[in-house]
Amino acid sequence: MTARLLEGKVFATQIKADAKKKVEALQAEYKVTPGLAVVIVGENAASKVYVANKHKACAELGIYSEVIEMPNDTTKDMLLEKIDELNANNKIHGILVQLPLPAQIQVDEAEILNRIDPLKDVDGFHPVNAGKLATGQEQLVPCTPLGCIRMLELAGIDIEGKQAVIIGRSNIVGKPMFHLLLSRNATVTVCHSRTKDLAQITRQADILVAAIGKPAFVTADMVKPGAVIIDVGINRIAPKKLVGDVDFSAVAEVASAITPVPGGVGLLTIAMLMQNTVTAARLQLEK
Ligand code: NDP
Repeated sequence: MTARLLEGKVFATQIKADAKKKVEALQAEYKVTPGLAVVIVGENAASKVYVANKHKACAELGIYSEVIEMPNDTTKDMLLEKIDELNANNKIHGILVQLPLPAQIQVDEAEILNRIDPLKDVDGFHPVNAGKLATGQEQLVPCTPLGCIRMLELAGIDIEGKQAVIIGRSNIVGKPMFHLLLSRNATVTVCHSRTKDLAQITRQADILVAAIGKPAFVTADMVKPGAVIIDVGINRIAPKKLVGDVDFSAVAEVASAITPVPGGVGLLTIAMLMQNTVTAARLQLEK
C-alpha cells in the first residue's frame, strides 16, 4: 500500500477532545450541560449498536444523554408527540431519530424529521438547516459529510481549487458534501445512478467521495493517480465483515490518501454528532 491511511480514530480523538472543551466552556459560562436524546423505534439490531455507541460517546465527553426506545408498532402520531415533548424539554439540546424507521412510518419520515426544532436538529436533516447549508450559512450540518470535511482539514489536505467528485446524491451524504466542498472552493461534480461514463468523470477527481452503498464499487482504474479517496460506504458482506464502496487494496496503490472501512469515516460521524450537540446547545443558549 502506498497511500496515506486516513484513520478515523486519529481525527475522531481530536474532534472529541475539542467537543469536550466546548462542553466544559458551556458549563462554566451558562451552568448548562448539553443534552442529547436519541429516539429508536423498533428492534433493528444495527441501529441498537449505533445508538449504544452514541450514548457511550456522550458519557465520555460529559454530555447528558437519553435513549428513548419506542415499540415497533409506534404510530406517526406517537412519534410526533415524543418529538414535541423533547422540543419543549430544556435539558435536551439535540434530538436524533435513528433511521431507518419501521415500515409503517417510513413514508412519514420527512414529516417526522421536520417536526424536530431546527435548533435541536443535530442530524442537520431539517429543511431549515439544509437551506442554510445551501446558502452558505452553515448551522447544523449532517454529521457524516461534516466529519469528512473536518478530517480533510485536520489532515492538512487542501480543498480549494481541487476537482472533487462525489458518487451519490442522498440528502444525508452526497448533497451536503457537495455544498461543503463548494463553499470551500473546490470545483464539484456530483454523480449518481444515471450518470453516463462514470469512470471518465471519477478519473478527473483530486478528491473522490464514494457514498453509494455498493461493495468495492470504485476500482483502481476509476481513480486518478495521487487522488484523495474518502470511502463513506458501509456494506455488510458477511455477518462480521464490513467493507466500503472502494476496492481498498487496489485503490490504495494508486491514491495518495484513503480512508479505511471500518475505522474511517464512521468514527468521525459520531464525533461530529458530539460537536453538533454542543453547537446546538450554544445556539439555544445564545438565542
Ligand atoms: P443512498 O442509498 O441514499 O444513496 C446512494 C447513492 O448512490 C444514490 O444517489 C444513488 O444514485 C447512487 N448510486 C447507486 N448506484 C449507483 C451507480 N451504479 N453509479 C453511480 N451512483 C450510484 O445511500 P446513502 O447516501 O444514505 O449512503 C451511502 C453509503 O454510505 C451506504 O453504504 C451507507 O451505509 C453509508 N453511510 C455511512 C455513514 C457513516 O457514518 N460512515 C453514514 C451514512 C451513510 P440515485 O440517486 O440515482 O439512486
